Amino acid sequence: MSRTPKHFETAVIHEGYDAKDMLGSLTTPLFQTSTFTFGSAEQGERRFGGEEEGYIYSRLGNPTVTALEERIAALENGERGLAFGSGMAAVSAVLVALTKANDHIVCSSGLYGCTFGLLTMMKEKYNIDHDFSTMESKEALRSMIKPETACIYVETPINPTMKVIDLQMVARVAKEFNIPVVVDNTFSSPYLQRPLELGCDVVVHSATKYIGGHGDVIAGLVVGKKEFLDDVAMTTQKDIGGIISPFDAWLLLRGLKTLPIRLDRHCDNAEKIVEKLREHPKVSTVYYPGDEKNPDHPIMMKQMKQGGGVISFEIGGTKEDAQRMLNHLSFLKIAVSLGDAETLIQHPATMTHSVVPEPSRLKMGITDQLIRLSVGLEQWEDIWFDLNEALNSL
Ligand SMILES: *Cc1c(COP(=O)(O)O)cnc(C)c1O
Repeated sequence: MSRTPKHFETAVIHEGYDAKDMLGSLTTPLFQTSTFTFGSAEQGERRFGGEEEGYIYSRLGNPTVTALEERIAALENGERGLAFGSGMAAVSAVLVALTKANDHIVCSSGLYGCTFGLLTMMKEKYNIDHDFSTMESKEALRSMIKPETACIYVETPINPTMKVIDLQMVARVAKEFNIPVVVDNTFSSPYLQRPLELGCDVVVHSATKYIGGHGDVIAGLVVGKKEFLDDVAMTTQKDIGGIISPFDAWLLLRGLKTLPIRLDRHCDNAEKIVEKLREHPKVSTVYYPGDEKNPDHPIMMKQMKQGGGVISFEIGGTKEDAQRMLNHLSFLKIAVSLGDAETLIQHPATMTHSVVPEPSRLKMGITDQLIRLSVGLEQWEDIWFDLNEALNSL
């Protein structure tokens, strides 16, 4: 599918669905069915033989899921989209499709914990090795690429230190070696950043976060070239089978409609909280790509619409002080995940990144004093009131 001429704010509501096809139903109907009946034995034969278009069985395709896949493809400006039962099902379907035994992957120096776990498993089972790169310069990235390198895998902004990687630069280097670039775009969503438009090849999402946006669904999405995604659909998606349920696809279609207005508020709230955190005597460092004082701010301005809704900050003190601060909050919720209406706060060293061995964890910048905040949609003064009280208690 080519880029829709509609504005993003219109496409999130309309793309991939035409009410005329569904008895005029305003919202996309929920096809909560495992299978589809054939009018005759011959029709079943034609469907399986690919001579006739139509649904067969919901692991191979479902109309509610198709609407979601077409919508996300349009929003990321890609040729085809695929939906999965979790972000990790999406990440693993892509990485398994792109690699074979003894290959090599270059990845950004910070990775989502379970993506790190998947790479470790691929190394143990199939000798698919990986190396981390800061991707701070063309030379730094080039020096990590080997003849066996099958792809470059990038997260930006990097969780939880919020470092930003220049995606155009990464895409240019990848072209020199003719290898694809995969970008985990979970932290930005296509509203803030569209990696395919910057020359990257595949986008993966944990749709659990901003795309769903309401903390009620676990799901994943992939967007890229039709040829590659056709291959993923017929191999790792179909045969490993980490598909999305029609109901979860329906929830994502619903959540997507408000993505731009939600993200505008998440970003505006985050900017206000960053200003306040910077002034607080108990806060030593604030990491936020939208902050003008952040060294990555120029790259962020080049490739993102705004800085996003996630902030990390360090407090003076110990791990126990960080925990004490969290325990002192009144309505802000201690929880991992991000992108929900509720502000969520967590302690990466003992929660999301507790599996990472301490030396690697510290190298990634994840100290015992680091706290990650997913700024929600509440009135920002209320968020700050709660945070300020907790910080003052230290
Ligand atoms: C949450 C997350 C994932 C994994 O997604 P699930 O939906 O939990 O499987 C992958 N990448 C990033 C950056 C995430 O935040």
